[in-house]
Amino acid sequence: MINCGARELFEEVGVLLARGAETLTIGQRASLLDDLESKRLSWPELLSLYGLHLDASDFTFVGRWVTPPFAPRRFDTWFFLANCPAKQQPKITEDSELESGEWIRAGDAYEKWQRSEVIAVPPVLHALKTLAAGLTSDLVERFLSVPQARREPTRRIEFHPNYICFPVRTPTKPPATHTNCYLIYNSREILVIDPGSPYEDEQIALADCIDDLISEGRTVREIILTHVHPDHVAGVNALNDHLTQKHGKRVPVAAHRLTAESLKNQFKVDRSIEPDELLKLNREPAISLRALYTPGHARGHLCFYDEQTGALISGDNIVGYGSVLIDPPEGNMREYLESLRTMRSLPNLSALFGGHGPAVANPYEKIDEYISHRVQREELILEAVREGASTPQEIVARAYTDVPPKARAMAERSVLAHLEKLEAEGLVTRTSEAAYQATPANS
Ligand SMILES: [Zn+2]
Repeated sequence: MINCGARELFEEVGVLLARGAETLTIGQRASLLDDLESKRLSWPELLSLYGLHLDASDFTFVGRWVTPPFAPRRFDTWFFLANCPAKQQPKITEDSELESGEWIRAGDAYEKWQRSEVIAVPPVLHALKTLAAGLTSDLVERFLSVPQARREPTRRIEFHPNYICFPVRTPTKPPATHTNCYLIYNSREILVIDPGSPYEDEQIALADCIDDLISEGRTVREIILTHVHPDHVAGVNALNDHLTQKHGKRVPVAAHRLTAESLKNQFKVDRSIEPDELLKLNREPAISLRALYTPGHARGHLCFYDEQTGALISGDNIVGYGSVLIDPPEGNMREYLESLRTMRSLPNLSALFGGHGPAVANPYEKIDEYISHRVQREELILEAVREGASTPQEIVARAYTDVPPKARAMAERSVLAHLEKLEAEGLVTRTSEAAYQATPANS
C-alpha cells in the first residue's frame, strides 16, 4: 500500500517520495514522470533504474476508510501522512485524476467547508479537522480516533455543514441499493427528508442518528417528503412511532398535496407544501429551503433549494447514482423536462443532493447532461416511429440497442412517456391502445 501511495503521489501531483530522489534535478524528475505516464517504464523499473528506494518509515499510517454502500464504486482506502521532500512542489499534472490543486492551510480549507463553499467527503473532512487542530504529538492518535478510520462504514455523511446525508438500504431500482435520507439541522431544529427504509435495522440506525441530534438540544420539526415512491416514504411510520415512544411526540408530516392524496391510506400527511413555499429553520444558523414544484418523475415531486448556499435537494429528479425512470401515468416526460429546465435556471447552484448516490458537485453540467440525454432519446424515438415502428416494444428494439434485455421492460415505460409527450406536441398520433404513428407533416 505504501508502494501504491508513493506511485500515486508521483503520478497525480509529481512528488517523488523515495530515498535517493534528492539528488535528481527538476528536469530529471519531469522526464521520469513522463516515462511513467507514457508507460515506457513501470514504477519498479523506474525506481531501480535511478537507484531509488522506498522507505516505509517515510509514511505514517493514519487510517483506512471505506466508501458508504450508496456509491457506484466503493473504495477501501489507506491514508498516510508524509513530509513533502525539500525542493519539491506538488502540482496537478496534465493527466491527473484531480481537477485542481492549491496550497491551503487545513484550517482555511475547513472554514471553506463550514461556509458551504466546498463539498468534502468524510475522510477528507476528518483529515482537515484533525490537521487544523495542530501538529501535536497525538496527531496520529487523533487521526485514528474515529471508528470510520478503521473501516467502519460511514453512515452520517456531511458533504455540507448542517446537511447530513444518511443513506438507508431500500428495495429501490437497481443498480441503486440505498435511498438518501437528509437531515437538515441547526442549533434547535431538524427537518427529516425522505425516511425511506422499510427495514427495521435501517430504521433503528436512522433513529439513533436523529436521537443524537435531539440529545444535543434539538427537536424534529417536520418529516418532509420529496415524492410518493415507497423507497422514499416507507420509514415514516416507524420514525414517528419511535419519536412518540422515546420523546413523547409525533412529528407532523408534510408533502405536496398530490403526494398526500396518494399516500392517504398509508399514513396521514398533516400539511401540504405549496410550490415556492419557504421552509425555515429558526435560530442559528438560519436555514431556509425553497420548495420547488418539479413534477415529471412523480406527480407531486418537490425539490428543496437553499438560496443561501446554492444546495439543491433534488429528490429523484437528478440522482448521484443510477438513472431516473419516467413511468406513466405517475411519470410525465413533458413535465420532467420542464422541471429539469426549472432546476437549470436556478441562479447559484453549488451542489445537488439527490435521492440516491453521492452529492453532485458540478450541478449545471449534470442537469445539461440529463436534458440532452432525454432530447437525444426522443430524436431516436421519433425517427423510429417515422420509419414505421409503432409500439414501445418495436421502438425499444430499434432505438435502445444499448440497453441490455433485462432492462427492456423499463425502457418501454420510458418510451411510452416520450410518445405521450410527442403526442401532446402533435408529432405522433395514437392509432390504438399502444400503437403510434408519425403525424404527417401537413396535418
Ligand atoms: Zn422515485
